[in-house]
Amino acid sequence: MKIICVGRNYVDHIRELSNEQPDDPVIFLKPETAVPLKNEPFFYPDFSQDVHHEVEILVKINRVGKNIEERFAHKYYDEIGVGIDFTARDLQSKLKAKGLPWELAKAFNGSAPISPTFVPKTDFADLNNINFHLDVNGETRQQGNTSLMLFKIDYLISFVSRYFLLQKGDILFTGTPKGVGPVQIGDTLTAYIEDRKLLELNVK
Ligand code: MG
Repeated sequence: MKIICVGRNYVDHIRELSNEQPDDPVIFLKPETAVPLKNEPFFYPDFSQDVHHEVEILVKINRVGKNIEERFAHKYYDEIGVGIDFTARDLQSKLKAKGLPWELAKAFNGSAPISPTFVPKTDFADLNNINFHLDVNGETRQQGNTSLMLFKIDYLISFVSRYFLLQKGDILFTGTPKGVGPVQIGDTLTAYIEDRKLLELNVK
């Protein structure tokens, strides 16, 4: 199983980090070891003093595919979840400044919590109009709607399948809306799709 992540997919988040709006999706990978074990907390890594939460809508791939046409992309997933793309922002800023890859700041152990439950896509009238949000200690920090994605789910699947063979169980992180910010040891993070709480995580 692999985790394929999309960066810079919401204009409001691109602006808050003063990044350029991309012409093509910005893609990076996380290894399977980035998913915490069941019920495991997020262990704050010792190489960063500025780990940020990025709440994101997830798509679970349901079968093998490559070079998928956008109009057929919907056949490759049945379920939507929510996850957090934890980012060591201080380290990422250093790597970006040198033009180096982001993996150390993005793909470390436990950096990709995934909701234990996924929701059938048929539960949604329109996948391009899903509300989601993240609370930290009960206070809403990030709110997004998939209508605000620069590149929509089907386009993303088509795009990444030109480069990576998609396999059953792969997870696509579709990008974060604005409101990213630091987490602290002791925080409790809860992530929702619409009003359904799907993920709860403590920071240790
Ligand atoms: Mg992200």
